[in-house]
Amino acid sequence: MMFREDGTTIMTKYVFVTGGVSSSLGKGLTASSLGRLLKMRGLKVTMCKLDPYLNVDPGTMNPGEHGEVFVTDDGGETDLDLGHYERFIDESLSKIANTTTGSIYQNVIAKERRGDYLGKTVQVIPHITDEIKERIRRQGALGADVVIVEIGGTVGDIEIVPFIESIRQYRRDAGKNNVCYVHLTLVPYLAPSGEQKTKPTQHSVTELRSRGIQPDVIVCRSDQPISDSLKRKISLLCDVPSNAVISAVDAPSIYDIPVTLHEEGLDTIVLDALGMNEAEHPINLAPWKEVVQRVHSVDHVLSIGIIGKYVTMPDAYLSVAEAIRHAGFAVGAKVNISWLEAERVPSEISADQIASLDGVVIPGGFGERGIEGMVAAAKICRENQIPLLGICLGMQVQVIEFARHVLEMHDAHSTEFTSTSSFPVIDLMSEQVEVVDLGGTMRLGAWPAMLDEGSIVSTLYGANVVSERHRHRYEFNSRFRPQFEEAGLRCSGQSPDGRLVEFVEMPQHPYYVGTQAHPEFKSRPDRAHPLFLGLLQAADSRAKNSGRANSLEESVNSHA
Ligand code: GLN
Repeated sequence: MMFREDGTTIMTKYVFVTGGVSSSLGKGLTASSLGRLLKMRGLKVTMCKLDPYLNVDPGTMNPGEHGEVFVTDDGGETDLDLGHYERFIDESLSKIANTTTGSIYQNVIAKERRGDYLGKTVQVIPHITDEIKERIRRQGALGADVVIVEIGGTVGDIEIVPFIESIRQYRRDAGKNNVCYVHLTLVPYLAPSGEQKTKPTQHSVTELRSRGIQPDVIVCRSDQPISDSLKRKISLLCDVPSNAVISAVDAPSIYDIPVTLHEEGLDTIVLDALGMNEAEHPINLAPWKEVVQRVHSVDHVLSIGIIGKYVTMPDAYLSVAEAIRHAGFAVGAKVNISWLEAERVPSEISADQIASLDGVVIPGGFGERGIEGMVAAAKICRENQIPLLGICLGMQVQVIEFARHVLEMHDAHSTEFTSTSSFPVIDLMSEQVEVVDLGGTMRLGAWPAMLDEGSIVSTLYGANVVSERHRHRYEFNSRFRPQFEEAGLRCSGQSPDGRLVEFVEMPQHPYYVGTQAHPEFKSRPDRAHPLFLGLLQAADSRAKNSGRANSLEESVNSHA
């Protein structure tokens, strides 16, 4: 039993969020929105994700296929939904908040090899399911009032079965009133018949029931609101009260979702299912409504380019894009993001095209494809006073570009891409370990940095010591530091032992900043990250000085 500081006991409750019919319905955003609503009722909320795929973690997965790897403070390489959780509930999560089938099996097999199962036959039920339940219990042991558990994939997937079985058992283990099942489905509109269709929802709920779970709440995604009569139909066929059928219509922005779901009564019905008295947990929606208001009170448009390798899959840079938008809200601007393929710079994407942007981000990445395009883009931004924020690989590119074109180190490069450069300005700075396991061989998670007094970055952060999350192997090669500093690329932040360069900046430029870290992971909708805010402020000035700042109407017309 766990106790609060005032001595009262905490009875942790669990909400399991499953999805049916189709992937990409926004299960992560629905779960995150519910998390925020419960938090605004004064409850301590934490969240976790169970992913049915076989990778041990998303660290080795291709972001072009699976989306970004979200990094936690404690160095977890996790699913991008954890980014939604952190941005919505505004709590830092641990790596234990993401579990995959691969990590479950890895543990169970290690136990089997150690002889922990005392010669028993090791089976999906109970050994795999026990391990899954143990991961859920670990989240509960953190002392939250409510743990929201999202199950990746859709019911009916082969890989999801042990997870569904585990959460079914969990209600027995934790007690009926301590568990609530929320099921998300799609209610499509069929134009030829002019009707919204409930059949996919019925099938999906039938599938869930066949595994022994009767949902307490059904959240229906649709492009048109669901009528009361349709809710009654779903209620009757799926055996939930009609007020537990929630219409989750497409929202103008993701930040509108918590308010929409609250108006539909989602948090009320969840509290009810968890045996909690709503009157004891009144909601204070005001802070979130302020966020929504900021989102909708933007009065001009800025265009920011993301020049990277995986731009055909915007989810690969999800947190970067969100951080740019947050900083846009802070300067009152809607941001149009231009996704620019690095490989096409400068041949197909010209210097003029880049100069027509208000600001640029070169994000993180691995592998050689597109590097020369990024170097060309950094040169264009440096020479044409275009605000640029370089993130991780982006900073490394800024350093390579400066070395080649300002310091005349013509073959300057990173040893990630060549071992023959005479100027390895980006290099491995620690003893390299033999890579036999691609997981966890990087500088991962939160690392502190000391910022130089009076630097651009320390002014932006308003602090001299900061902590940011990392995910990389290579570093600025400190051997070359004096030449850079002398020629005008200042190393303005370093690790506390002074060995590793964490930030670079160019004081003679409107905004030319690079960081070895990934600041995007810590941006929040109501607290834009200082480095992104710096970029957007510089972009705003650039747009205004060039007379380019578009009003919202002009932008709508010019894109019509
Ligand atoms: N590939 C580079 C490195 O490993 C940069 C990594 C990144 O941008 N996250 O150092």
